[in-house]
Amino acid sequence: EARATAERSFSLYGRTDGPGLVERWEMRNRLVQALADDALDIHYQTIIDLDSGQIRQLEVLARWHDPVLGDVPPSLFIGVAESFGLIDDLGRQVIEKACRQLAAWERKGRFRGVQLALNLSPLQLRDPEFEPWLVRLLRRLELSPHRLNLEVTENVLVENLAAARVQLGRLARRGIGISVDDFGVGYSSLSYIRELPIDVIKIDRSFVARLDQSAPEREILRSILDMAAKLQLDVVAEGIERESQAAFLRENHCPMGQGFLFSRPAPATAMEGDEPGPGAVVYTGHAPN
Ligand code: C2E
Ligand code: MG
Ligand code: MG
Ligand code: MG
Repeated sequence: EARATAERSFSLYGRTDGPGLVERWEMRNRLVQALADDALDIHYQTIIDLDSGQIRQLEVLARWHDPVLGDVPPSLFIGVAESFGLIDDLGRQVIEKACRQLAAWERKGRFRGVQLALNLSPLQLRDPEFEPWLVRLLRRLELSPHRLNLEVTENVLVENLAAARVQLGRLARRGIGISVDDFGVGYSSLSYIRELPIDVIKIDRSFVARLDQSAPEREILRSILDMAAKLQLDVVAEGIERESQAAFLRENHCPMGQGFLFSRPAPATAMEGDEPGPGAVVYTGHAPN
């Protein structure tokens, strides 16, 4: 019976116009319960140095399996959490869980020096209590702020530059890194880059996806990489699925990459077994020359 409900819900959520009000309300109620039960899971996806294959970051991706709704993708439940006032709670649960995991790995000598990349909702950025909360958490877990990188999407920075400057400034002064997520979609103004304490830009996977077919796309990518190098920004290319894409990015000196070619998001337990330890080369698609 639960299965039938899950299938019904899935077909509703799968509609191209997205879930309607009733479905969103049902999802909101289930999510309230999931948060009360601390039932969200986390997956980790590696972000690697494209030349050496070493792991530089682990992106933290929230996962929700609901007994009735089934697996709900973050593209849906994050939006629901944002519109129903649940995102501060959800965001903190995810961050706390991930930081606890990092501290546990640290005690075992795993993922030394690797950063956690945490997605931040624009609403969390607006919460004045967020930065002090995060600093307390890091102290409690004895983690250096340098181990965190907060990912914020570009539109947030552009639409609310003044607020972003204040909040990101606070976080950056603690030593926490800042990334621009989904870079390159939507906005042409880049002026925010010099006004904000940004360390990393993450080139949206729509660019990487079109690399093989489109010469203009390759030129755009080259100029983004060129600009980033001149501004001394680190770069992650998202959504690398094919060796040809990795090869192009390496040739053009893209420092970091993320994608199914290297690893899919996976639970912490799956990250433990074959984690080769500090300095080990986990992936290189090319022979050293
Ligand atoms: P994002 O931050 O851009 O995260 C990367 C997304 O790309 C993830 O989707 C990941 O699974 C997917 N991905 C990675 N490599 C590849 C690839 O090679 N090919 C393809 N096709 N996809 C790839 P996911 O996990 O479904 O997350 C979707 C979005 O939901 C994230 O996009 C992020 O914006 C948001 N999100 C996820 N977890 C959280 C969270 O804890 N808090 C907040 N505020 N947002 C979150
Ligand atoms: Mg992200
Ligand atoms: Mg992204
Ligand atoms: Mg993206």
